[in-house]
Amino acid sequence: MNPLLSAVSWLGAYVVVVTAPLFALLLGPVPPPGGFWWDFAMALGFAALAMMGVQFILTARFRRATMPFGIDIVYYVHRFLAIFALAIAALHYLIIRIDNPAALGTANPLDAPAHMSAGRAAIVLFVLLVASSLARRRFGIDYNLWRWTHALIATIAFGLALWHVVGTGYYIDTDWKQALWTGYGLFWIALIGHVRVVRPWLMLRKPYHVAGVRRERGDAYTLVLEPEGHGGMRFQPGQFAWLTLGASPFALKEHPFSIASSAARAGTIEFGIKAVGDFTRSVINVPPGQKAFLDGPYGAFSTDRHPRAPGYVFVAGGVGIAPIMGMLRTLADRGDRRPLVLFYGNRCWERTLYREEPDALAGRLNLRIIHILGEPPEGWDGERGLLTQAMLERHLPADRAQLHYFVCGPTAMTQSAEKWLAALGIRSAQIHSELFEWV
Ligand SMILES: Cc1cc2nc3c(=O)[nH]c(=O)nc-3n(C[C@H](O)[C@H](O)[C@H](O)COP(=O)(O)OP(=O)(O)OC[C@H]3O[C@@H](n4cnc5c(N)ncnc54)[C@H](O)[C@@H]3O)c2cc1C
Repeated sequence: MNPLLSAVSWLGAYVVVVTAPLFALLLGPVPPPGGFWWDFAMALGFAALAMMGVQFILTARFRRATMPFGIDIVYYVHRFLAIFALAIAALHYLIIRIDNPAALGTANPLDAPAHMSAGRAAIVLFVLLVASSLARRRFGIDYNLWRWTHALIATIAFGLALWHVVGTGYYIDTDWKQALWTGYGLFWIALIGHVRVVRPWLMLRKPYHVAGVRRERGDAYTLVLEPEGHGGMRFQPGQFAWLTLGASPFALKEHPFSIASSAARAGTIEFGIKAVGDFTRSVINVPPGQKAFLDGPYGAFSTDRHPRAPGYVFVAGGVGIAPIMGMLRTLADRGDRRPLVLFYGNRCWERTLYREEPDALAGRLNLRIIHILGEPPEGWDGERGLLTQAMLERHLPADRAQLHYFVCGPTAMTQSAEKWLAALGIRSAQIHSELFEWV
């Protein structure tokens, strides 16, 4: 299906899933109007709950649903909608607090009805969920710890909110409405079971093992995986997969990495991994034969999604070269002769990841490489400093408006490059970027 149409269909499906249970509330007997603010507060409460339920599906990594947007965009939307849903849940509470405080009763959980305390606790947990996600990096909260607690708190908070709605019984005082909303909530909770149990079980049936780890320049490694007893994964060049090493796929200790190997060579999968933290630093010590599991492929950052482009421009910074290597290697294996330009920024020449390979591939591709070095060696006559709009303008070909652009590197570089390319007249539909820091 056309990607735009597909994106619109999924957005439409989202709106239907969020609003359908709200419309169902209006069927059959409804309570008498309680005044504008009261009714508005009730609508906000139901809308917040419906939106929070759908939050579970947004991170369930359903490939067909995430493909048209890219999974990074889906995570951003998840984050944005969480803030929005929390805001309307808080507004639901505040309006009642101001308009009809008696309806809230006492806040003392020893005296208050359990379903009212459940509602209050749900709001507190939702605040904790959103705040801990937004502040995770600032407070250095370990990613895996955050992920486990995030899933747990989200499930408890959602269960409490559902209890509050069903317990209050307002608008859902018929059996079928109670059953509908309870079923609706249980469906989202069952989805967690799918993500945490069914998906890892499917991964268990398609294991890989480590064939080797190669040390690369600049604190980076190439991890080579071979499929065990199956044909491996079909993917588009530039896509990524969630990697679990050693532990069982049920352990939830997975990390996303772009596939750096060629999509034209079945079986073996290679990742270019930069050592930045506990997991990535441990990769060099992984023994050959170690079991590995992959969940993927994911992502929309691929030349294969724009096959009719007359040529491609790649803009890489540091380890952002990994998915771009995957695309270059694939284009070389396919004998593609379309014009390609690679802007590749690094701090210094000695630490430039895969330094030799793009040059070697240039013989098999119609590829021009512009290295940009922050701290160039003596006698360097190439570009120096950080990437700039002037550099892009200097090296882009005359038909630049027709080409498709793939940008991957540090967030600041990626955002600047997107802005500069737009300023150079490239349509946003032709600029594709991958961020390694979206969670
Ligand atoms: C789509 C995508 C593709 C990526 N491709 C590559 C690649 O090809 N090569 C490469 O070197 N790196 C890549 N990364 C980044 C890589 O996933 C992180 O560097 C790695 O997970 C860090 O783990 P750590 O324990 O070593 O470091 P930590 O110090 O624990 O984490 C550093 C940061 O990495 C992120 N991170 C940590 N653990 C996870 C996790 N389990 N899931 C998601 N993010 C996490 C967090 O934002 C964290 O703040 C990619 C990231 C994404 C999102």
